[in-house]
Amino acid sequence: MTSPRQMIECRRTARRLQQFLDRDPSAPLSDGDRQRVQAHLDVCARCTGLAREYQELHASLRDYGQDAEPTPEAVDRVRQAVQRALAQE
Ligand SMILES: [Zn+2]
Repeated sequence: MTSPRQMIECRRTARRLQQFLDRDPSAPLSDGDRQRVQAHLDVCARCTGLAREYQELHASLRDYGQDAEPTPEAVDRVRQAVQRALAQE
C-alpha cells in the first residue's frame, strides 16, 4: 500500500533523478534536494529500480566514450521507465 505522501515523493524523485545521477553542473540539485532524493531511494524500491535504469544507461554511455550521444533506444528506455513509474500511481 502506497501512501499519498510516498506517491508525492516518488514523483518528486522521478523528476530529480536524472539531475541527481548526472550531478549536472548546469542544473545542480541543492544539498537538501540531494539528501531528499537519497533518503527516498533508501526506502523506495520502485525509485531505486528507476535509479538503476539511469545508472545502466550512463554505464553504457561511458562504454561509447564521454562525447557520445545516448542512442535513441537508450533514451526511450529510460523515458518509458520514468513514465511507467509515474503511471503506477
Ligand atoms: Zn519512490
